[in-house]
Amino acid sequence: MKHSTSGRLSVHIRTYGCQMNKYDSELVSGILTGSDFHIAETRDEADVLLINTCGVREHAENRALADIDRMLSWKKQHSGRIVGMIGCLSVLIGEELLKNRPDIDFVIGPDAYRQLPELLRNAANGEGKTGVLIADPTNETYGDLLPKREPGVRAWLAVSRGCDNACSYCMVPLARGRVRNRPVDEIVNETKTLVAEGYAEVILLGQNANAYNYNGIGFGELLRRIARVPGLQRVRFLTSHPRDLDDDLIDALSTGGNICPDLHLPVQSGSDRILKAMNRGYTRAHYLKLVEKLRYSVPEIALSTDFIVGFPGETEEDFHDTLSLVEEIGFASGFVFRYSPRPGTAAFDWTDDVGDQVKTVRLMELNEALENTRSSLFTTLVGEKMEVLIEGTARKHPEQVTGRSRQGYIVSMPAGNLRAGEEVRVLIREISGFTLLGNVV
Ligand code: SAH
Ligand code: SF4
Repeated sequence: MKHSTSGRLSVHIRTYGCQMNKYDSELVSGILTGSDFHIAETRDEADVLLINTCGVREHAENRALADIDRMLSWKKQHSGRIVGMIGCLSVLIGEELLKNRPDIDFVIGPDAYRQLPELLRNAANGEGKTGVLIADPTNETYGDLLPKREPGVRAWLAVSRGCDNACSYCMVPLARGRVRNRPVDEIVNETKTLVAEGYAEVILLGQNANAYNYNGIGFGELLRRIARVPGLQRVRFLTSHPRDLDDDLIDALSTGGNICPDLHLPVQSGSDRILKAMNRGYTRAHYLKLVEKLRYSVPEIALSTDFIVGFPGETEEDFHDTLSLVEEIGFASGFVFRYSPRPGTAAFDWTDDVGDQVKTVRLMELNEALENTRSSLFTTLVGEKMEVLIEGTARKHPEQVTGRSRQGYIVSMPAGNLRAGEEVRVLIREISGFTLLGNVV
């Protein structure tokens, strides 16, 4: 094989989808880094391609499938090349895929990655193909394994896997199974390792991170214990569910220090009727109450969110409830998605009755409303001073460095002698799109 001169197979991973998938790719790199394998930065250096797929929306699925087809063409160009599919789509459509694309070497779901080394060795020896590999039922948390992370200022760390909710549109619980929480000590020890490796910031990750509970220790207390790790400059987390946001977590956020006032709290819709159909388990009034409590206890908090537009049955009136919620709250940022029916979910059986064009118009209108509230919020930041953790040189402006404020705002400033990992106090001078421009004071 072309790249296995040292006897090691060279593996390149291509990742689609959310932050958890990116984290899983680091985990797979960790599992495969060792005597038999080498992680390749590019496809051209690789003998093996792994495509880490996402199935949360049809668009993501189509992109991953198109990539698989391209990679199967790559495979045909040289004998001995291996192409495997990993990630959420493996669970959702893996069987079908193995039938339709017989050239694919294996299909393996997010809870079965420990089997990858063996699978790869077998594939390299030409030893037959397996069916879709899904560890089920599973207690897998990969807690004893260290992901192979990109060097840098921020490191991602999963506190749990899976999701116990049943939002009627969402395939995540189908693909990733029931929730499994990692032990508190394990998470704290991994944070210590990350600090010792030089990471300044840790971002805790879970499909529903704030539902964390291990032997009675909830997410608020976990956050406090992580924050006490000596040398850790910052900790934040993704993603939170409004129903699981309890007073203890608000209390932990209010302690400040290295716990960042930054909360991604997907609301999905501003209409009670739609929230009910989505099975979100809260009302608009409850969400507004949470925001009020958060802003009272953590006045500097930056709130971001997700929305789905064009959910089955969403009327103009429902959509206006969403628009008015955006104006009422004033999010720092928000992601808007067009509803995409996903096989196996409850909503899949309902008529997808909001036309494509209407979905697109609502997406644009909602993005505009979010942009308006964001820019008025940003205008109030001019003249403010904030602590910025430098992450590196600004991509388009080598004379600038860029970093994040504790709220998560991106801030750029003249590079001077500033280095990544350094925390500096910055006076904000002006706004450029999503970036705050300032000077060190
Ligand atoms: N566990 C996280 C992430 C779920 S997926 C959470 O609960 O927030 C990320 C976002 O994708 C969701 O917040 C939702 O806005 C969107 N999403 C999920 N399923 C979708 C679907 N079927 N169609 C359109 N958007 C969807
Ligand atoms: Fe999906 Fe809801 Fe779980 Fe988030 S909380 S992963 S949207 S089921």
